[in-house]
Amino acid sequence: MRRTFSTLLAASTLAAPAIADEVNIYSYRQPELIKPLTDAFTTETGVKVNVAYLAKGMIERLKAEGDRSPADMVLTVDISRLAGIVDNGFTEALTSDVMNTNVPAEYRDPEGHWFGVTTRARIVYASKERVVEGEVTTYEDLADPNWEGRICTRSGTHAYNVALTSAVIHHNGLEGAREWLTGVKNNLARKPQGNDRAQVKAIWAGECDIAIGNTYYMGKMLADPEQKEWADSVDVLFPKFENGGTHVNISGVALIKSAPNRDNAIKMMEFLTSPKAQEIYAAANFEYPIAPNTAPVPLVKGWGEFTADDVNLMTLAGNRSDALKLTEEVDFDG
Ligand code: FE
Repeated sequence: MRRTFSTLLAASTLAAPAIADEVNIYSYRQPELIKPLTDAFTTETGVKVNVAYLAKGMIERLKAEGDRSPADMVLTVDISRLAGIVDNGFTEALTSDVMNTNVPAEYRDPEGHWFGVTTRARIVYASKERVVEGEVTTYEDLADPNWEGRICTRSGTHAYNVALTSAVIHHNGLEGAREWLTGVKNNLARKPQGNDRAQVKAIWAGECDIAIGNTYYMGKMLADPEQKEWADSVDVLFPKFENGGTHVNISGVALIKSAPNRDNAIKMMEFLTSPKAQEIYAAANFEYPIAPNTAPVPLVKGWGEFTADDVNLMTLAGNRSDALKLTEEVDFDG
């Protein structure tokens, strides 16, 4: 076709960075974690990134907005939150060769409704003074009477612990998980309370000897003048399941099915799952990038090597309601 001045003009008008050249993200993650990435994306593509940072209520908001939602994609942590968004029917399944290459199969939905970007392991913080080497090597060990009065943890109903219990169900069955929860409860030094870092503080203060927590909090504590002492009082141990690996969870992304800027959202998701972006993103929160041939920052690497459990996280999401029910039945927090 012969290009006339008017078609050129029309093309350039369309190409102008007008309303279409943006992408809207609903995020449960804090601005400082994703700003470097959204800036890099805009520099690379010219697409403007608008982020709504939410502390809670993402599902309610998406529900209320319906198909008129400005949201193109969501960014969050924990498989339970991703699964909640998927279960409500907000997402579109995507087949992306880029993301399927960048994200190992266990860290994405087989149907393509969500994709992981980074992982964190749920591990044991152990007192340097009161825990001997080899005393705890498996999650099953935590239910052993050896630990009576020595364990601290946050609420059993918190998403992080529900995911761990979901993994216990996967590896040891419902009855096995009930016994495990009962055993761990009997070993608690105090009622579940506070966040993961509060448990490490309790080890430092001598209230307990080991605690369950996510790996990245070690990095966060070391970076905080007051909390550094807590971190210095513990070792990071990577327990595994007797018939599996170390329990990990993810941060991840999902495409909203009514996305007004669908193409840009896919571009952004592919960018976020790229090995380079994963490494930057992981470094910002002391997490692990998940693409093949990527590495965490040296500090995180220094906590030790581990083999991640290879259960697909979708399986854990499926065990979630059973895990919550068991936690309530054994009155874990009581
Ligand atoms: Fe956290």
